[in-house]
Amino acid sequence: MNRSSRKSIRLGAGLAIAALLAVGLAVPASAAPAQSPISKPAKTDNWAQLAQPLDVCRLKETKNQYGGGAKGFPSRPWNSSTGTVKIAIIPVDFSNAQGSGSPAATYRDDIRQMKKWAKFFSRGKMTYDIEFNAPKWIRAPKGAEWYTCNQCKGAKKELQPKATAAQQIISAADKTYDFSGVEMVYFIFPAEAEEKWGTTLYGRNEPYKTDEGTIIASVYGEMGGVVGAKPDRNTIWDHAVHELLHYQGFVGHGPSNHTGHFVSVDAWGPSKAITSWEGFLNGWFGENEVLCLDKEKLSKDVVVTMGSIDTFGPRKESVMIRLNDEEIIVVERREPGPFTRIDSSGRGGLRAGFTAYRVNVNGEHYRDDSDRNSDAKNFWSFLGSRTDPTINGSVQFKGVKITPVNRTRVMISVTD
Ligand SMILES: [Zn+2]
Repeated sequence: MNRSSRKSIRLGAGLAIAALLAVGLAVPASAAPAQSPISKPAKTDNWAQLAQPLDVCRLKETKNQYGGGAKGFPSRPWNSSTGTVKIAIIPVDFSNAQGSGSPAATYRDDIRQMKKWAKFFSRGKMTYDIEFNAPKWIRAPKGAEWYTCNQCKGAKKELQPKATAAQQIISAADKTYDFSGVEMVYFIFPAEAEEKWGTTLYGRNEPYKTDEGTIIASVYGEMGGVVGAKPDRNTIWDHAVHELLHYQGFVGHGPSNHTGHFVSVDAWGPSKAITSWEGFLNGWFGENEVLCLDKEKLSKDVVVTMGSIDTFGPRKESVMIRLNDEEIIVVERREPGPFTRIDSSGRGGLRAGFTAYRVNVNGEHYRDDSDRNSDAKNFWSFLGSRTDPTINGSVQFKGVKITPVNRTRVMISVTD
């Protein structure tokens, strides 16, 4: 869910939050003390003999389970995260908040982008099959004030239950939509409906009657208008992906929220990538993408030349270092890609280079965008600077040090 965040997007903008976790200084290899068991770091990749089976890194979540999704294995999605996932995207307007133009024309590219995005980041494990048949806006039978959600932002009063509201729109769309097999529905509302009437819909796996029989679907509708966000209303695909991912098992909003590094932390930010932890958890990333290491078995410095989660390719895109039963460090590399723009002008700033974050699968899911210590309390967070996590020099966490060697190569050392 994205409920608590919209307003605080702005609140968080100017906060320079000090690094909460130890940031090591860059130490040239030659400066290592003579008695160190490791006198010279390896210059070439030497990870192959230290690679562990991926199960070693599939940390089990056994406590602090969060209703919004699993933090560790096994994944607990509301809707499918692999295979062909059928979605309906329904542009709906109201007699008192009318849509303009032809949605079919306005959102044609969004539908294409969503499909491309899904194939690329799921590494071919998932296809979005999108039902979208709206040459005109689908007119809801009642005014915009009837379609609200009391637990969401916006209008707190529900003139009718949310599920009834969603059912009415689904029925209105039924003439032109084929709902067979639909698992998730994303509604597009005119900005005016959200701004004036607080129109919002939300629901997880509820039954809806359609001409094709009863479907069980999760529904989502709002684009920030209820709290005054002014995104480009002609582009919906990245916001839709963000919200659908929540239903598909992605907790999102981390490792640190609003950094611009992932579609899950900032739908409108410079990168629409996903975290490799969530990709791994939800069945998208496997042997091709993930290198699993175990801190206990690291007898020497490990050097890995990495691919990037923005471009993929033959190399590993994620290095995971298991610390214990519930903690792991994840190392990723960032660069420009088909869905990533290197851009440090935004709230967080996305630079090319390496980033690392810690995950505690049994930690508390703590998210409060107005709390500057939120990261330290949350089950995951970037190592180093929260607002600019690209590693300069090195970062350390619980006796593991991560040091970029050059643009694509990183060294992992055990320091205790
Ligand atoms: Zn969200």
